[in-house]
Amino acid sequence: MYDVKEIRKDFPILEREVYNRPLVYLDNGATTQKPRCVVEAMTEEYYNVNANVHRGVHFLSQQATELHEAAREKVRAFLNARSSSEIIFTRGTTESINLVASCFGEAFMREGDEVILSEMEHHANIVSWQLLQKRKGIKLRVIPVNDRGELMMDEYERLFTNRTRIVSITHVSNVLGTVNPVHRLVDIAHAYNVPVLVDGAQSAPHFAVDVQDIGCDFFAFSGHKVYGPTGIGVLWGREEWLDRIPPYMGGGEMIGHVSFEGTTFNVLPFKFEAGTPDYVAATGLARALDYITDLGMDAIHTHEQALVDYALERLRTLSGLHVLGDAVERDAVISFLMDGIHPFDMGTLLDRLGIAVRTGHHCAQPLMHRFGIEGTVRASFGLYNTKEEVDVLIEAIERVAKMF
Ligand code: PLP
Repeated sequence: MYDVKEIRKDFPILEREVYNRPLVYLDNGATTQKPRCVVEAMTEEYYNVNANVHRGVHFLSQQATELHEAAREKVRAFLNARSSSEIIFTRGTTESINLVASCFGEAFMREGDEVILSEMEHHANIVSWQLLQKRKGIKLRVIPVNDRGELMMDEYERLFTNRTRIVSITHVSNVLGTVNPVHRLVDIAHAYNVPVLVDGAQSAPHFAVDVQDIGCDFFAFSGHKVYGPTGIGVLWGREEWLDRIPPYMGGGEMIGHVSFEGTTFNVLPFKFEAGTPDYVAATGLARALDYITDLGMDAIHTHEQALVDYALERLRTLSGLHVLGDAVERDAVISFLMDGIHPFDMGTLLDRLGIAVRTGHHCAQPLMHRFGIEGTVRASFGLYNTKEEVDVLIEAIERVAKMF
């Protein structure tokens, strides 16, 4: 039984008011709120365990290391990865993608080689490849998006050439909510012997992800979007690839032996984790993953799908309101525009009514360009949102529309 009223009690921030109104937090695509247990796990570690990991023989360091490696194992189980040595802690999805673009690009791409992306990528999955383009002269090939906001799969197949080296694609669009057919995308790429990176920033919070089932080669997500702390994220990669690509940064922890004549590198995953990691955030992330898996990813998904269906149904009754995209498979994000009202004005006025939504280009300017717009208003749902909050949103939009 999914009791959203009970669940909300775990999130102190949801009790606060803004502008003397109850907060309606619909900006979960940007970041999620934290349950008490996540913050408590981190406080507990700072108060009682804190010591640098992997370095000390002393009691606290060993205990901190155990917590850190237990967190890695939690992430492994969450993604159903084969081995925890395939789990690399990063600062977030952005860093995970940059790591792959930089290190895979270094090892396996040269001038004229190609990466396939899509028109609906977040800037994190565009600009990191453009940096490589500047450095090495690689080419970006782009899967177009149709009017419904879905990838044009026929075009995807046509983009493969003998210079294609990697596909890097978002699992769920942070603007349209479209859930991309990652299994098919991977199968097609693998038929050309091309590996696939999946940007899971907007999928990992909403439904169960199994990297072995998807069959991809790399998968990235952010802690702060799965009810965990900021400053930590994950890159999962197949050992076969991670073993073959060079380290990202140099420093402590990632080495085997250092001398001025030459340095050897540590084993996976430490080869990619230079310097002191945010081990306290890793503990927080592990607690967040426990929290959502205890609720049940399927139960969260069912709850959020019902909210999105209800919100879409109600939004579509509002005259002058246009929802961007109409994908068959969609998740907990809805972007919309209202005739005659700039998204920024809509967002600002909704804010005054206590509703936190996102406005603007959502770090997806090429997608905005594709639809010939500058931005949208985006409502994105989380596990604690309610039908009543959708009603508050709809009434507020109606109220704003009347003002114009
Ligand atoms: N990819 C997608 C699809 C996103 O929605 C986001 C964040 O909004 C990112 C990547 C970047 O995530 P982060 O800022 O946590 O690194």
